[in-house]
Amino acid sequence: MTKSGRSALPLAQRCDSSRPLRLAGARSRERNPARFWFFSSVSFLLRRLSMRLPFVTVKRVAVCAILLAMPIRPSVISAMPRHTRTSALPDQPQVREALEWLDKNLDWTTAQQIRLTEIPAPSFHEEKRAQAVKDILSAEGLSVFTDKIGNVIGELRGAQDKEVVLLTAHLDTVFPEGTEINVTRDGDRLVAPGISDNGTGLAALLSVARAIHVAKIKPQRTILFVANVGEEGEGNLRGMRALIDAYQAKIRAVIVLDGSGIDYVTTKALASRRVEVAITGPGGHSWSDFGMPNPINALVRGSVRFINTKVPVAPRTTFNLGQIEGGTSVNSIPYEATLKVDLRSENEDEIGRMEAALRECIAAGVRDEMDNARERSRGKLEWKLNLIGSRPGGELLPNSALLDSLRAADDFIGNKSRNERSSTDANIPLSMGIEAIAIGAGGNGGGAHSLDEWYEPAERELGLKRVLLTLLGVSGLASERP
Ligand SMILES: [Zn+2]
Repeated sequence: MTKSGRSALPLAQRCDSSRPLRLAGARSRERNPARFWFFSSVSFLLRRLSMRLPFVTVKRVAVCAILLAMPIRPSVISAMPRHTRTSALPDQPQVREALEWLDKNLDWTTAQQIRLTEIPAPSFHEEKRAQAVKDILSAEGLSVFTDKIGNVIGELRGAQDKEVVLLTAHLDTVFPEGTEINVTRDGDRLVAPGISDNGTGLAALLSVARAIHVAKIKPQRTILFVANVGEEGEGNLRGMRALIDAYQAKIRAVIVLDGSGIDYVTTKALASRRVEVAITGPGGHSWSDFGMPNPINALVRGSVRFINTKVPVAPRTTFNLGQIEGGTSVNSIPYEATLKVDLRSENEDEIGRMEAALRECIAAGVRDEMDNARERSRGKLEWKLNLIGSRPGGELLPNSALLDSLRAADDFIGNKSRNERSSTDANIPLSMGIEAIAIGAGGNGGGAHSLDEWYEPAERELGLKRVLLTLLGVSGLASERP
C-alpha cells in the first residue's frame, strides 16, 4: 500500500480516471440508457431555459431535476445490500432459524474443529484435511468440488448466479509433517498446534454452511464456501490467488475466516516479501583447507550488517531472519549457507528499500569474507537472492458495503470491533480492489504457530452469528429483490 492507498486499485482501474470524459459518458450510457437520455434531455432544457429565466429559477429547476433523477433503486456499486437491510436480516424467519441452529449446535461445531485439527495439513500437503472438509460440505446440500490446486469449493447457487460471495478458511498449518497433533483439554481450553489457526475458521465455515442448509436459506447471490490451501508461509496465498483468478469477474465480496476472536476486522492488507539468500563456495576440510572462503562466515558477516539497518517506526516496518541453514558437519568448511528473511511494511516502498539494503549487506559480507580469506585463490564465493513469497498490500474503501454488513452484524451481537491491518488471504482481493475482510470466528485463542496453541470456545456463538449475518448481508436473500 502506498501512502495514498491508491495502489489498492489494479493498474487498469487507476488508469480509468485519466480516460477522456467522452468515454466515461459512453460507459454510463451503456450501463443505464434511460438515465443517460434523461440527463441529456434535462441538460438540453436547462440550457434553453437559462437563456430566458433568472439564475435562481434555473438553479431551482436544476435541483428538482437532479432529485427526480436520483435512482430509487441502487445501481452498479451500491447494488450491494446496505446496512439497513442487513440489520433487518435477523427478523427473517429462516435467518432466525439459522441463528438458533448455531446456538444449539455448539458441540457439533467444536467436534468438527477437534476432528479437523487432528488431521495434519502442512502447506502443500493439505489433501487429507481437504477431503474431510469436502465430505462434510457435501452433506450440506452443496455441490462440492476440488480445484486443480486443492481448494475445496462448495457452491450454494443463488437466485442471481452471475455474482458470487466467497466465505473462505485456510486448511494449512505452519507445522511440518511429522508434528504430533492430539487435541488435549485443559479445563475449558483445547490445546493443540493449529487448533485456533485455523481450526476455528474451518469449524465456522462448516457450521455456517450447515445452519444455512438446515434453515433452507436461498441466497440472492451465489455463495461459495471454500476451504483453501496455501495461506501460511511459503504457501504464499496460492489458494486464494487461484480462487480470484477463477472467479474474479463475478466476485462481489470475500470474507476470510482466520483464527479466533470477534474484536477486530482486518480491512487493510499488510504487504510482505519473503526472500532467500544463498551463498555457495567450494567447501573443504576444516583443518587442511583452513583459509578458504566460508559461505557461513560470509552469511554471518552480511547478516550482522543487515540486522543493524535502521527501519522506520512509522510507517511500521519490520524484518525477521527466520531460518538459517548450511553446512554438513562441524569439521567441514560448508559449500552452502542459506537464510530466509521476512520483510513487512505498511508502505510497500519501505519493503523495496529493505530488500535493497539486504542485497548490499550480503554483497558486503561476501566481499569481507573473500578479502579476509588466506587462500582466496582456492575458491570463490557466489551468492544470489531469490524471492520466495510476496503478498501485496491494499485497503478496503471506507464506504464498503461488506464493512456495513459486518458492522450491522456487530450491532446485532452487541459487539464493537476495531479495524486492523494484517497479512491474510484477504491481501489478494484487497490488492485488486475487490471488497474483502478477514475476521476471527469467535471464542478466544492464543499461541498461534506454536506447539502450545490453545482455544477456548466460550461465547463462540457470537462469532458464528457474526459470520452468518455478514455473509447473508452481502449475498442477500433470494426472496429480496435488489
Ligand atoms: Zn491463519
